[in-house]
Amino acid sequence: MTTNEIKKLDNENVIQTYARFDVAIDRGEGATLYSPEGKEYIDFSSGIGVNSIGYGNKKWADAIYAQALKLQHVSNLYYSEPYARLAETLIKRTGMKSVFFANAGADANEGMIKLARKYSFDKYGKDRGRSTIISLKQSFHGRTITTLAATGQDVFHNYFFPFTEGFKHILANDIEAIKCEMTDDVCAVIIEFIQGEGGVLPLDENYVKEVSHLCSKHDILLLADEVQTGVGRTGTLFAFEQYGIVPDVLSFAKGIAGGLPLGGFLANEKCKAVLVAGTHATTFGGNPVAAAGAIEVFRQLDEKALKEVAEKGEYIEKELKSWNIPVIAEVRGKGLMIGISLADMTPKEIAQKCVENGLLILTAGTDALRMLPPLTISYEEINKGLKILKAILKGTHK
Ligand SMILES: *Cc1c(COP(=O)(O)O)cnc(C)c1O
Repeated sequence: MTTNEIKKLDNENVIQTYARFDVAIDRGEGATLYSPEGKEYIDFSSGIGVNSIGYGNKKWADAIYAQALKLQHVSNLYYSEPYARLAETLIKRTGMKSVFFANAGADANEGMIKLARKYSFDKYGKDRGRSTIISLKQSFHGRTITTLAATGQDVFHNYFFPFTEGFKHILANDIEAIKCEMTDDVCAVIIEFIQGEGGVLPLDENYVKEVSHLCSKHDILLLADEVQTGVGRTGTLFAFEQYGIVPDVLSFAKGIAGGLPLGGFLANEKCKAVLVAGTHATTFGGNPVAAAGAIEVFRQLDEKALKEVAEKGEYIEKELKSWNIPVIAEVRGKGLMIGISLADMTPKEIAQKCVENGLLILTAGTDALRMLPPLTISYEEINKGLKILKAILKGTHK
């Protein structure tokens, strides 16, 4: 089918919740995508931080093909090897103590929130009412009713009332603000180390350390939403490693299975046994094909690959800064999670021009372009993509 035929079919039949670009993607190789007509796009987005090990990754494809032939799904009433092996890998490589597998980011966060509330219920009882969760302004935690309630951006608190109770949003990087809000009813704090959708806004290291300290002092759980920052994105396997703290629970999704739907959360010693049989479940969680894909992702994301993510990130940041283009107000982020805040141009308008010129790039918050390329992107592809971006920011393209 041609792009126009696909577009027509989509527009006639799909609930149009996505403001799509005028582009269809047919296939990919490395970090390069192709339309049905063969137009080439350098991919600085990986879906939205999903295709962590690129396109046409033979070993990954072989792993999921073999698993699909062998067993594509098994109920969580039974044990299965990919599930158990992936769990072992995650525990070994993070130092956390146990894992629950879900399907995506929002439902991973839902489970993490349930865990936090049950932890306090078990320990302090219903009457003490420790159920409130503090979240940060500009955060994003998902699109379900509860994770929208957790999301600290007013634009999301519309239409779908009533939202789940028990969330309060405070200014990020303001330690006095969070101290004031750590009242007797609070059971947890949820953070993103770098707020992705909010604009690629990193939390200060000292702030995170202080919050972690206050949390343990008051027996408040620190929940880290690593749905976007996790799985190598920031140059370490998970972002918490760069902040010198360990969260009580951390959620993951997006890049974990290299493009297949999988999410979940990891719990520390204190939280590993809070959820027991019957308290949480999901039909597809830990699907064997997705788990086989994830095992291969972690195999490829060894120490060397993670180091390269950090180096590529530094390279891109240095390049962007060397351009000296006034429209670039700030470059921020870590590893291959990079935000470029723009002075005079709207990010949407730049992203649109990039697409027209063969570069897929994301936006974030109100003022930022966002790069989340496949972690395996080559320097050649980085340079090709940067060349397109530079020309557009300099205004030399149409
Ligand atoms: C994308 C994202 C989510 C939601 O994940 P879905 O898979 O879309 O449900 C939650 N938290 C963060 C930080 C995200 O980036």
